[in-house]
Amino acid sequence: MQRLFQFHGGVQLKEHKRDATAQPVQAARLPRQLVLPLQQHIGTPAEAIVAVGDKVRKGQLIAKPVGVISAPVHASSSGTVVAIAKHAVSHPSHLSAPCIIIDTDGEERWTEDRQPVADYHQLPPEAIRARIRDAGIVGMGGAGFPAHVKLDPSQHAVDTLILNGAECEPYITCDEMLLREHALEVIVGLRIMRYALQARRCIIGIENNKKAAFLALREQVRNTGADFIDVVQVPTVYPTGGEKQLIQVLTGMEVPSGGLPLDIGVVCHNVGTAYAVYRAIEFGEPLISRYVTVAGSVAKARNLDVLIGTPVIDLIEECGGNRNTLSRVILGGPMMGVALHDVTVPVTKTTNCILAFAKTGDVPLASKGSQPMPCIRCGNCAEACPVDLLPQQLYWYARAKDFDKIQDYHLFDCIECGCCDYVCPSQIPLVHYFRYAKTEIWAQQHEKALANIARERHQFREQRLEREKLEKQQRHQQKRAALDAQKGDAGSSADAAKKAAIQAAMERAKNKREANTIQPRNIDNLTPDQQRKIDEANARRKALEARADVGAAQDSEQ
Ligand code: SF4
Ligand code: SF4
Repeated sequence: MQRLFQFHGGVQLKEHKRDATAQPVQAARLPRQLVLPLQQHIGTPAEAIVAVGDKVRKGQLIAKPVGVISAPVHASSSGTVVAIAKHAVSHPSHLSAPCIIIDTDGEERWTEDRQPVADYHQLPPEAIRARIRDAGIVGMGGAGFPAHVKLDPSQHAVDTLILNGAECEPYITCDEMLLREHALEVIVGLRIMRYALQARRCIIGIENNKKAAFLALREQVRNTGADFIDVVQVPTVYPTGGEKQLIQVLTGMEVPSGGLPLDIGVVCHNVGTAYAVYRAIEFGEPLISRYVTVAGSVAKARNLDVLIGTPVIDLIEECGGNRNTLSRVILGGPMMGVALHDVTVPVTKTTNCILAFAKTGDVPLASKGSQPMPCIRCGNCAEACPVDLLPQQLYWYARAKDFDKIQDYHLFDCIECGCCDYVCPSQIPLVHYFRYAKTEIWAQQHEKALANIARERHQFREQRLEREKLEKQQRHQQKRAALDAQKGDAGSSADAAKKAAIQAAMERAKNKREANTIQPRNIDNLTPDQQRKIDEANARRKALEARADVGAAQDSEQ
């Protein structure tokens, strides 16, 4: 018997789940046009690999992932690409985003690229993760994190893999219906995920108001002999389906502030993700459809098996809603969903529910859209907060735009569950303030990061210029040194040549002198006058020779 733990806060909500679970799931009508956003996940948007005019088949890859945290996009049906352009998508900013738009041909012709795996045990875990990545599977509980990344244990040892079947928001029943109708497939998907992650044990957490789904799961676990899987019922308290809350309820461990479940040896996936993994491995099918709950003021609330890319308005009308009388459409549940500004936005891989309301008064939670009053510091919000935050303090700092202080109060631990909003007697839209503060902080951080990049670039340029200047100086010095060295060599060889020339000149003069000292033979019996003339001639010659020696020496020096 699995022991259960409690998280702080939470609220009891009216379920509104009976209508949509009264009938089996049926396939939604094929839309005339599919709108496939390039980003349906957390991470880098995929990159289109088709062009306008291309014919595509069902399941064909039409946008490839970019980087590790990214997921590919596949055509949900066969048809022709008619545009690759911005289109309205569901986002709180109401901005449009790049999408591939396909006119369907009604033939539903599958691609021939499907490669089922006969026995996944024959492949290593990394090959299984690669298959999951190639199938474009992302977390289908709402967060949309690429599943293959969350199935990679990296350096961590994973003890427990949790499958989240605690669908705690009012109205949403797509996971419950999936478990009722495909319990065995979900169990097989869970086993594949456990193999990819090499986890020791598995727990499926399911709320205790989903009896049929719980029994179906337990029976399939028993039939398959998977004794490492525990199917556990958890109390129906909102937000038990939050990842961190469910981990705490099932294991008693708290995910550290700013940390990940992997830090405490736990990984948590949605039951829809397990089903998508099953189809990817067993049939080689990419993620091109999902279960979606359509509820609110529609004539036939129900769950539909919807092709990704189907416009929301098509589903509302299929369930008996009327586009002319709609006052508000929410994508997701009433607590955490996003109000739509345009009903042509498409269903994506993370869309679990469409709530269509004909009159403003039909919106189920009173605090939404009411006139707020001043905070009376009652403390209800702090009591309800499942993360143990102080929402009223966060509210004051958000109002005062004190974004440093608000982070000291752990704004980024807020899961935007809306419990504080729900219990606030002053009807203050607290979560709006928290989202606003988060967006502002992200924008500031982004600007700061850009400024840092610009500063680094400037510093780098300055360093480069300085380095180039130094290098130039060094080159100059080296050149000068080389020239000086050359000059020095030339100077010394010139000196040597000069010395040699002087020496040679002196040698020549000496030889000449010696030659001149040879006495002539006819000098016997000279008269005194003859002798005098000879002496005078010798004296003149010597004087001339001496002068010639000096001249030769001077010429050599020059
Ligand atoms: S619940 Fe509302 S009124 Fe009460 S303290 Fe919180 S913010 Fe103020
Ligand atoms: S929205 Fe944030 S602050 Fe409010 S209760 Fe939920 S976690 Fe706490």
